[in-house]
Amino acid sequence: MNAELIAVGSELLLGQIANTNAQFLSQQLAELGINVYFHTVVGDNVHRLEQAVNIAQTRANLIIFTGGLGPTKDDLTKETIARIVKRELVIDEEALRSIEAYYARTKRTMTENNKKQALVLSGSVVLKNDYGMAPGMALTVDGITYMLLPGPPKEMNPMFIRYARPFLLGKLKQHERIESRVLRFFGIGESQLETEIEDLLERQSNPTIAPLAGDGEVTLRLTAKHSSAIEAQKLLDETEQAIVKRVGQYLYGYNEDTLFTKLMERLNAHGKTIAAAESLTGGRFTAELTVIPSASKAVKGGIVCYTNEVKERVLFIPSEILETAGAVSEQCAKLLAEHVRNVCQADIGISFTGVAGPDPLEGKQAGTVYIGIATAGQETEVHALMLAGDRETIRTRAIKYGCFAVLKR
Ligand code: ATP
Ligand code: MG
Repeated sequence: MNAELIAVGSELLLGQIANTNAQFLSQQLAELGINVYFHTVVGDNVHRLEQAVNIAQTRANLIIFTGGLGPTKDDLTKETIARIVKRELVIDEEALRSIEAYYARTKRTMTENNKKQALVLSGSVVLKNDYGMAPGMALTVDGITYMLLPGPPKEMNPMFIRYARPFLLGKLKQHERIESRVLRFFGIGESQLETEIEDLLERQSNPTIAPLAGDGEVTLRLTAKHSSAIEAQKLLDETEQAIVKRVGQYLYGYNEDTLFTKLMERLNAHGKTIAAAESLTGGRFTAELTVIPSASKAVKGGIVCYTNEVKERVLFIPSEILETAGAVSEQCAKLLAEHVRNVCQADIGISFTGVAGPDPLEGKQAGTVYIGIATAGQETEVHALMLAGDRETIRTRAIKYGCFAVLKR
């Protein structure tokens, strides 16, 4: 199935709201293995909506509309589609009853145009609206399925999940299984990752491979189709193995994993504890870890050693180091990690010191970051990084890098 999404609404064209319906539906359809080839946005105008439908009919066999199902004059999606596919609009009794019940419940008088919301394309499958009045609908004519959904996301999203998605699953070739898996990478840029697996990306068909980058991480979503779920999983395994052969050292997790949940899993699996000395990151590393419910076993604590005074007094960094090498230095990161480990009596000590910017510090450029990792019986490791981005990005990347470095140790 190839889909085109048509969002109807002049407010979208005027830039008053963003087309988040298209984003939501594209993600949902990707999970179903339905290709989305076009997003169209058109205003509340019959003539231009007709034009958009005429074009979509030439290139899609699933056309999903959002918006324009309401009771007002500018809501004209149903009427326009009815004319194009030459179907009547008929009252859906169940929808009418629920609209009447709504008016009775809220003690308001129902007007004639509210009835209009109970009109559906004759012969269509009606999709219930649990959070509003206008029902959605789906109708297949001459091999093309037209699906009409309401504009407000709080009505459209649940309608899609509860009623439209099962409808589409039924439409998809019977028994076809769609399995997907997300591979999560850190420490490799999107373009480098794509270069490493370029041939796999070019050859892809089943599974499909969809890269997505954000916040220093890259993910690959693999989606496989097969009549058997086990075979679909095998296809995913094969492609994953081919990818891992090239870039396995950057893979840290799957699906809903985050660097923080992976680190927590690892610590708990080995019964290890961690403590952090955070200058650059002001406690964010510890905060991210303590969001996770199992943190109490693994997180000993942390010290926000933002000033040199605290570094010296609480974590015993010699003033000579702070005066010569500086707080943002390999030596300082090393001692911070070792001392916080001792002070907190943890198995692992980690430290973050650096320049978040925008201004330089100690003559060091924004993005200069040192991360120390100290464990018993092993030499303390210090990662010297030059991170790009604004203050927020540098701090986020630093804490993620810290997780990844501990995971890889
Ligand atoms: P209503 O019954 O509320 O009039 P409707 O189905 O007629 O619903 P529209 O009138 O087109 O839908 O849009 C109603 C509201 O839904 C918009 O003001 C906007 O807030 C939201 N909306 C519509 N389309 C989109 C979209 N593509 N993405 C995000 N929000 C949207
Ligand atoms: Mg409306």
